[in-house]
Amino acid sequence: MSRLVNAFSYSHSRGELFRSCPRRYWFVRYGSWGGWERDADPETREIYRLNKLSNRYLWTGHHVHEAVRLLVETVREGRPLPPPETLREELLAVFRREFAHSRKDRSGLNPVRKGFFGLLEHEGGAFAIDDAEWKPTVERALSAIEGFSRSWVLPEIAGLPPGDLLDRDTELRTALLSVDGRAVPVHLKIDLAFRSRSGDVCVLDWKTGRPGKAGDHDRQLGLYAWYFEGERGIPVESLRLGPVYLAYRPDRRETVTVSREEVEKVVEEARATIREILSCVDDPDRGVARKERFPVTLRPFDCRDCPFTRFCPDRPR
Ligand code: SF4
Repeated sequence: MSRLVNAFSYSHSRGELFRSCPRRYWFVRYGSWGGWERDADPETREIYRLNKLSNRYLWTGHHVHEAVRLLVETVREGRPLPPPETLREELLAVFRREFAHSRKDRSGLNPVRKGFFGLLEHEGGAFAIDDAEWKPTVERALSAIEGFSRSWVLPEIAGLPPGDLLDRDTELRTALLSVDGRAVPVHLKIDLAFRSRSGDVCVLDWKTGRPGKAGDHDRQLGLYAWYFEGERGIPVESLRLGPVYLAYRPDRRETVTVSREEVEKVVEEARATIREILSCVDDPDRGVARKERFPVTLRPFDCRDCPFTRFCPDRPR
């Protein structure tokens, strides 16, 4: 069987990762590559395992996204939503099962679901947290799933013609961005996009965390706008984009328009980040990159939730 090739591609989250710590980007994109192979060396195997770990925020956020995706499907099919207590119980059951699995089995050899190898907090040491610290995160996820039922979005998508629901977190979208003559695949996961009754296209991103500052999501949403115009033929002027804070204020419509200049600025920033990453990579087509070419962050704060500290003696202290 031919081996997978680690060819270069980009996404908003990879850009954020590189901007926070180029070395951590290396661990995620190159150091862990091939760690699933039988003949992988022990260090690569361990880096791969660590890379597969989740943390309590990503883990609960993932399940909220999954649950909301199924609820959108339910609405699309014209079926009633399950009662909030049922949604809550189902989500809690998943959390309990995976939490127990993660705490019991840190081997990463028997994932309870594809891609879930355990929680970083269960690695112990600096990552360990008190039992009481799990509760607020789980409660927030449960509030988020209830929040969907109260969100401003629900009445908007109920009864929409099928063709007006343009994206619902079911597949990874990819568009090519030209960077100095190289066509770089840019991956996007769009939580929800639909043509509203007024004719605008709403592009939404579910958030389970606390609302941050205005503009926090500009880069992410700007890339979505670039994608919708270039790949789906929807002019930037027709788009309204924004986050939906499911656990905090799901009833508040926070979509905004973006100007063509703002989109171009975001795309230029993405190009600049891609150039910077590529300047560190030896062979982007074959996935060859040396660790020492990816500098460590200068901010110890960036290391607080990094699973690779054990393999990173150069980290700031
Ligand atoms: S431990 Fe710190 S410096 Fe090292 S890869 Fe992680 S975030 Fe970067």
